[in-house]
Amino acid sequence: METIILDTGDLAPAVEALKAGQLVAFPTETVYGLGADGTNAAACRRIFEAKGRPQDNPLILHVLDKPALMALTLGPLPAAAAALVEAFWPGPLTVVVRANPDIPGAVRAGLDTVAVRSPSHPAARDLIAGLGRPIAAPSANLSGRPSPTDAGAVWEDMAGRIPYIVDGGSTHVGLESTVVDCTTTPPTLLRPGGIGLDMVASVVGEVAQASGHGPVRAPGMKYRHYAPEAPVIWLDRIDPEAVQPALAELARDYPKLAVIAPEPLPQAVLGGRQRSLGQDAVTAAHRLFQAIRQLDQLKPDGIVIVWESEDGLGLAVKNRIEKAATTRVRL
Ligand code: AMP
Ligand code: MG
Repeated sequence: METIILDTGDLAPAVEALKAGQLVAFPTETVYGLGADGTNAAACRRIFEAKGRPQDNPLILHVLDKPALMALTLGPLPAAAAALVEAFWPGPLTVVVRANPDIPGAVRAGLDTVAVRSPSHPAARDLIAGLGRPIAAPSANLSGRPSPTDAGAVWEDMAGRIPYIVDGGSTHVGLESTVVDCTTTPPTLLRPGGIGLDMVASVVGEVAQASGHGPVRAPGMKYRHYAPEAPVIWLDRIDPEAVQPALAELARDYPKLAVIAPEPLPQAVLGGRQRSLGQDAVTAAHRLFQAIRQLDQLKPDGIVIVWESEDGLGLAVKNRIEKAATTRVRL
């Protein structure tokens, strides 16, 4: 299949493709999504085929507003969901609610709940409005790979597999939405993301954190994610006195080591195989996936990522590094 890149000013072919049950990759404020008509079961199944995504990993439905969420919810909207929507929509916050049984099983991965969010990106909103129905969309990467934050990264993974990629430049947030399960009391954080846990808690009070133990609460939580070709080694502190010797030792084991770290970057002679995460968590979130993809193209034999913070977006950055990592070095 030939893949065509569209400008955000020329969305008509993308809307027609969605109406015809085909897939369209599009920008959102978090990462690029791989969208299908969320009411069309066959179209939604195509998302799983194109990504190589496990069948039991559910999708997020993208809508314009709260009334659209209410139409997808079975029974009344939980108070926590209403409050989160009021505070953060449109934006990088996904609520999980009891699902209207009309929603295709593929979207829910067979669960009786559904995840819904309202993106703020104008191109995403234009597509939803043009289709006139919710758009089901996970990130537009091959399953297991880092999420795409620009159209070039989507092209790397999806060229030949989908008819259209809408190019909206580089995404603003750079990592996925925060997912909050509003069917539990208190609500449960299923995935940290573009809205910090502190912000969520300021709206709903107590928030339970899904633990890595016990039954899997959301199928998406059990897979390794965001991973490049090279093994990823996470150094879990930023103190230079700990990082420098650890890096020196790793450089002996991995002669073509690459490094991603906050500033100031550790001193290491790496032939340009270095990317900066900047000086704060917002910048790090924006840069992380692109840094991983760019360094991976240099074919390093290992990628070290230095990260410690859990403040604000730091928790989401740490979560993505943890899931991408093959090894964690505790400093
Ligand atoms: P993504 O995997 O980032 O491409 O987007 C979908 C993610 O949303 C999944 O991996 C899950 O973590 C989460 N999600 C979607 N639907 C549900 C649901 N019904 N219950 C819990 N989590 C969900
Ligand atoms: Mg994803």
